[in-house]
Amino acid sequence: MQTLRSAGIAAALLLLALPRGLGSEVAVAVAPDAALARLREGNQRFVAASAAHPDQTVARRTELVAGQHPFAVVLTCADSRVAPEILFDQGLGDLFVIRNAGNLLDDHVIASIEYAVEHLHTTLVVVLGHTKCGAVTAAAAGGELPGHLPSIAESLAPAVAAARKTGGDVVESAVSINATDEAKTLATKVEILAEAVKAGKVKVVAARYDIATGRVEILP
Ligand SMILES: [Zn+2]
Repeated sequence: MQTLRSAGIAAALLLLALPRGLGSEVAVAVAPDAALARLREGNQRFVAASAAHPDQTVARRTELVAGQHPFAVVLTCADSRVAPEILFDQGLGDLFVIRNAGNLLDDHVIASIEYAVEHLHTTLVVVLGHTKCGAVTAAAAGGELPGHLPSIAESLAPAVAAARKTGGDVVESAVSINATDEAKTLATKVEILAEAVKAGKVKVVAARYDIATGRVEILP
């Protein structure tokens, strides 16, 4: 498993220049397709109950003191059942994770993704929705919500409205539509990302995690 993974990564290594003053002249980054393959393989291990728990040693922790080069950004829900490092079978320094209820985009989230792409040279951005999402369920149910919760429902309203037109399960459709719309926004409307996507340096994908099977499906 380890050999297969290493070979896959080695086959698609890119050399990217580091900003001046950071010591070594080059840092190794994983190409977008290789990064996606690494996530798929990790998820397959997780689903098959054969997780390898990579990069969780003291040696890895020590290695990362010098700096981080996560190979993928994962924007996902704060839901406790959707832990990216676990469901993709990754470890320390592998994923740049951003989470909030409903995996929503706002300025802080977008800035965090820009930081990962621009400064950490991360080449893959995954927007990961999930089945049985409470935030989407609440947005679809409507009605009065307390405190700051209406802000989440408002952000999810366009996806819920679009989902109602599909004729399928509103919540499950809205989960997919929300993730797909967000991925499209990131790839086309956020300048730093859009340029990187156009140049083929970065890939943005939408995906959905099934909390029952553990499987991550990449959405079209
Ligand atoms: Zn959720």
